[in-house]
Amino acid sequence: MSAQLYEEALQHIVGGVNSPSRSFKAVGGGAPVFMKRGQGAYFWDVDGNRYIDYLAAYGPIILGHAHPHVTEAICQAATDGTLYGTPTEHENTFARLLKEAIPSLDKVRFVNSGTEAVMSTIRVARAYTERNKIIKFAGCYHGHSDLVLVAAGSGPSTLGIPDSAGIPVSIAQEVITVPYNDLAALELALNRWGGETAAVMVEPIVGNFGMVMPEPGFLEGLCRMARAHGALVIYDEVITAFRFHYGTVQTYAGAGCPDFSAIEPDLTALGKIIGGGLPIGAYGGRREIMERVAPLGPAYQAGTMAGNPASIRAGIACLETLRQPGVYDKLESLAARLADGIADSARKHGIPLTVNRIGGAFSTHFCDHPVRNYDDAQKSDGELFARFFRLMLDRGICLAPSKYEAWFLTIAHTEADIDETLAAAEQAFVAIQA
Ligand code: PMP
Repeated sequence: MSAQLYEEALQHIVGGVNSPSRSFKAVGGGAPVFMKRGQGAYFWDVDGNRYIDYLAAYGPIILGHAHPHVTEAICQAATDGTLYGTPTEHENTFARLLKEAIPSLDKVRFVNSGTEAVMSTIRVARAYTERNKIIKFAGCYHGHSDLVLVAAGSGPSTLGIPDSAGIPVSIAQEVITVPYNDLAALELALNRWGGETAAVMVEPIVGNFGMVMPEPGFLEGLCRMARAHGALVIYDEVITAFRFHYGTVQTYAGAGCPDFSAIEPDLTALGKIIGGGLPIGAYGGRREIMERVAPLGPAYQAGTMAGNPASIRAGIACLETLRQPGVYDKLESLAARLADGIADSARKHGIPLTVNRIGGAFSTHFCDHPVRNYDDAQKSDGELFARFFRLMLDRGICLAPSKYEAWFLTIAHTEADIDETLAAAEQAFVAIQA
């Protein structure tokens, strides 16, 4: 039935999908699976097939589907009316929760997506510094607004679009892209354009060309160098916020990773998990910067749906659940067993696979070199990934249809799900090897 629904979708919806990353173009084409219902770690397609879900809707569904606490909050919000166009007390509660978890946020603003959050941080950084240029890192994806869709990863790189049509050259020229984990390249860029640069934007831990850790000293160096040139530092924590612990990368000192808490960005963009599965974004940072935003300041940013009660209440319920003891330990231990098991299985069958895992998220690049920047990720074998993706899907394991996307664990996954997934991966590697 997915095939029929896809045929119909193609008649009405551009490319049959409402976000290009949902298309199966990068994994050999054809109809994507149309899902009908999700519960916990599973979703079921329109034909009644069950899948273990590691897509987690590209990150937000960290509690699994239809978590009762979130569902109750959404139902209550619907009962009370979904949109008022006035402030509500819930927005205060949620802002306070975020500020407690992310001390660099003196002030926040709620928006409707990660794209909006990032776009707004750039507006504010430009207003504050009275400069125009932005420096970003190759392969980091920051949403689909004009300035950050230059050498972007995630969807655009999957489809082999280095730049999007429709972005004026004059705008692209305001963006400088340098390789991730490469301070020498950043220094060159800043030496040349530092005086015109409003901000350096980074995914502090990358989630968009697989999971990639900043090398020791990279973020510290980035912050020091940006500030030496009078540029702001923007962390895009749309994926990373509340993914690895109850907080962000800037407050993370997890096992096996550097202590990031010594450095704070000037501005932070948030999204995904903080909405509990409903549309949301947020941005915030230092008081004097955020106070440039209307109605206090001259940088205009607004939204009819911004801070809507349903998203806010779902977000509060999600954070309340994530704050319970043991949540992140569980994600970590499930992900560790799964990622290690897949790596072992691939090794056993002589299949080159680089697994990068951070907490409850990991990536699988079919290559025999480490993946520390976008170049490395691009060199991984997309065809092998496509075969693996199909073999796993046939066995009821749902991954994102792109070699660049991560696997995300949810608190709903069980040890039995991991067993089932490892058995499927073993079979997939046998089939690939044959
Ligand atoms: N920033 C990052 C790091 C992202 O991964 C994404 C989405 N994948 C975005 C921004 C854009 O968020 P949205 O899709 O909600 O607009």
